[in-house]
Amino acid sequence: MSRPLTATISLSALRHNYLLAKRLHGGRVLAIVKANAYGHGAVRCAQALEDIADGFGVAAIEEALQLREAGIKKPILLLEGWFEASELALIDQYDLWTALHSEAQIADIEAAELSRPLTIWAKIDTGMHRLGLQPAAFKAAYDRMQASGKVGKVIAMTHFARADELDVETTSQAASLFQAAIDGLGLETSLCNSGAILGWPTTHGDWGRAGIMLYGGVGTDRVLPDWPLPVMALDSQLIAIRELSRGEAIGYGARFVTEQATRMGVVACGYADGYPRIVPTGTPVLINGRRSRILGRVSMDMLVVDLSEHPEAVVGTAVRLWGEGLPASEIAAAAGTIDYELFCNVKRARLIYQA
Ligand code: PLP
Repeated sequence: MSRPLTATISLSALRHNYLLAKRLHGGRVLAIVKANAYGHGAVRCAQALEDIADGFGVAAIEEALQLREAGIKKPILLLEGWFEASELALIDQYDLWTALHSEAQIADIEAAELSRPLTIWAKIDTGMHRLGLQPAAFKAAYDRMQASGKVGKVIAMTHFARADELDVETTSQAASLFQAAIDGLGLETSLCNSGAILGWPTTHGDWGRAGIMLYGGVGTDRVLPDWPLPVMALDSQLIAIRELSRGEAIGYGARFVTEQATRMGVVACGYADGYPRIVPTGTPVLINGRRSRILGRVSMDMLVVDLSEHPEAVVGTAVRLWGEGLPASEIAAAAGTIDYELFCNVKRARLIYQA
């Protein structure tokens, strides 16, 4: 038997979540499949969505070419644009859409030799203060793009810094700043990631950009009647069971000492698989649909769980690390991070795709 760690990906849940994003946002929605579709497998996810998706978003040209080479024909947007001017030739050749976030990139376009007009998603910095043209300078930048003669359609985009929070005004203020920057230009717009699609309906533009909600995360504090379905289940098995008496330590650093006779099980999943090492004793796992808890430190390849309440468990019993019944966001919170990071970090698991 090979190592029993599996990440099972439900393609029907992925499709459901995309259609939910489209219904909530209205208009068109890009499916964000950067970073290997947040660890879910970019090619398989894009293939599963291609007939319903309006397009895809990736972080880098290598990710876009991987999709094109796998036969994906729908539009693909480079969310961070290009990193070197030489990439413009590939953007042209593979018919990609690209973000543009700086004046220097307009100069790259002016100097480029292209076979067709570029479709540009012009990024405006409305408060993230990462990438983007300044709102006050946007109209001049837009005129310069038009004057280059090399730009076709321009879509104005911004990316919110705090769309996951509902009790701050930052997002509505950013949306107003954005609208003022493009006022009178008649451009199509794209403002919303998952948090804003779910939580900030007043900011929806022409194009949504749904990432984490496709994968069952929510990226918002809002409680909604319609919720994305979990897509990934990370499962392993018990590979050993031990009975320890009171006062015995478990794992590296002896961070957990039994308070009574304890039946414990060893699970084939550790931090080298992407499970966060930092989680404390008590972090939940699911065994036969009921919760158990991690005991002591997570090791590189293994972790230990309490089987005191699971007398039925035997070597080979399945253990769910996250998935249906145990949200990845709960494990992420125990680790002081977000489910995005957990999904992206999954390694060494056998990926299984379910229709
Ligand atoms: N749009 C841009 C520009 C992004 O960088 C990202 C991801 O970080 C997304 C959309 C998708 O965000 P989310 O996964 O929160 O939906």
